[in-house]
Amino acid sequence: MQLPLADKKTVGAYARRLLGQYRVPLGLVVGIQALGAVAALAVPWMVGVLVDEVGAGTTVEAVTRIGLLLVLALVLQTLLMGVGDRQSRVLGETIFAQLREEFMGTVTALPLSTVEKAGSGDLLGRTTNDVDRVQWAVRFGVPRVLVQSVTVLLVLGAAVLASPLTAIAMVVSLPVVYPAARWYMKRSAAAYAASSKAWATLNGEITETVEHAATVDALGLGERRRRRMRDAVRESWEREDYTLTLRAVLFPSITLGTVVPTAVAVVWGGWLVSQEWATLGQVSTVALYTVQIAGAMAELLMWMDEIQVAGASFSRILGVGEVKPDREPGGPEPMDSAITARDVRYAYIDGRDVLHDVSLDLIPGERLAMVGPSGAGKSTFGRMIAGIHPPTGGSVTVGGANLVDLTEERLRREVALVTQEHHVFVGTLADNLRLARADATETEMREALSMVAALEWAEALENGLETKVGSGAVTLSPAQAQQLALARLVLLDPHTLVLDEATSLIDPTAARHLEQSLNAVLTGRTVVAIAHRLHTAHDADRVAVMENGRIVELGAHEELVAAGGEYAALWESWQSE
Ligand code: ADP
Repeated sequence: MQLPLADKKTVGAYARRLLGQYRVPLGLVVGIQALGAVAALAVPWMVGVLVDEVGAGTTVEAVTRIGLLLVLALVLQTLLMGVGDRQSRVLGETIFAQLREEFMGTVTALPLSTVEKAGSGDLLGRTTNDVDRVQWAVRFGVPRVLVQSVTVLLVLGAAVLASPLTAIAMVVSLPVVYPAARWYMKRSAAAYAASSKAWATLNGEITETVEHAATVDALGLGERRRRRMRDAVRESWEREDYTLTLRAVLFPSITLGTVVPTAVAVVWGGWLVSQEWATLGQVSTVALYTVQIAGAMAELLMWMDEIQVAGASFSRILGVGEVKPDREPGGPEPMDSAITARDVRYAYIDGRDVLHDVSLDLIPGERLAMVGPSGAGKSTFGRMIAGIHPPTGGSVTVGGANLVDLTEERLRREVALVTQEHHVFVGTLADNLRLARADATETEMREALSMVAALEWAEALENGLETKVGSGAVTLSPAQAQQLALARLVLLDPHTLVLDEATSLIDPTAARHLEQSLNAVLTGRTVVAIAHRLHTAHDADRVAVMENGRIVELGAHEELVAAGGEYAALWESWQSE
């Protein structure tokens, strides 16, 4: 499954909305650049005047005066273009910054199940390659296109003013450039979209292989992965090859289209002069204008190309925003803190349920251990109880309210999932804690750290809570990272915790220390512990045995042992190990 693509209409509407917000600065940039372009027009004009005056016989003073005016026009043009260029870049950066922030917001709000299904390659491709492509076009392309369009129009107008007949030379190459550009534009959007997609696939193949290198090794999948990567590389290569062919047609026609008019202006202009339909000065002016317009046209076409590429990328970026949310908050508020699962089903792949009508009533304050063979569905059920995924069928409620009808913020005050995968985010220690509660005070943060026995080391850091941590700054040990995660839980303060012990605890000396921190967090809360070691079950108030997506036994440890069922057998075999 791939993430969706936004259609042309959506992309257009978004671009218009984005640019519309910057109408005033955009107008300013175009205005300044247009003034610069007008100053640039003065140069060929005065050269023409100079030629005619010299031809007619003139004074040294007159030539000097025109020369000085020329210099003045050049200085003015340079200044205006410089200011305009700076303004346009600042504008480009501003627009891009907004785009990037909006995109970040969308990405971080993506439903987890969608990201898992689409694989990380697609999303990674969109957040890197596609954003890069759009960035280039937005930062430089949009302002340059506006400026050069204005330049082309102004130069054309000035040429017609100078000598309408000679100005015909300006448009002689249109019959070549126009069809070539159209031919190209028709094919390029699809070609670039296909090329982006091929890159995403390649990215995905590589990321997956590297992330799961151990599995690939263990199962001897090396050759198969290599084959898939070779295919992905070939696909990318072919797509790139095709877009290169497209450019190989466009670029020569542009060159042709920009050189020919100057030659025509000189030859055709020469004949016009011989017929006395134009002066030598007018022809000189128009010939210089053909050079000026050629530069502008070439840049415009180049940007049209870049903008097409960016358009394809843009539709992939905006497509991320079209993923439907997996929940619509807005149901009733929970009445109490009792969590109930009713006939819960879940399918990662359509039609293949891994949970079959599982029901469970949690008793507030209890500690329930979930045991069973690997693949039974314990983690999946745990994620349902924590409201991570909406169930495919049935419901999980807290105090009568559906978990997935609560806002994410509200939900996390009810129930949270604790795993042993922890991420330290780049920022200060305090930033990392405030992820749990943005308005947490210094005292609250200290209390939370102290509860998980982390205050001591935190205060020993160079700047205390304000110390920068994460990649590129102070590195926290895995145990410290885990304590940080636990402190976040204290701040969130949910009444129910789902504890997934899927990965084994980190080094054993840290483990005992951490267990104390963990116990401090668990005290006074309802806990569902997905147990991979049975001593957790022994200490629990109740034990749920899960098999093949069903809870097959439920009761206190002693009861279940006495009943002599599945759990009794598990317990016995574990004890004799
Ligand atoms: P347990 O926690 O008891 O080991 P899980 O809940 O992890 O069991 O897995 C239950 C079933 O769901 C297994 O058959 C597993 O292969 C499948 N499963 C788990 N995660 C995914 C996933 N992301 N995509 C597809 N199938 C999955």
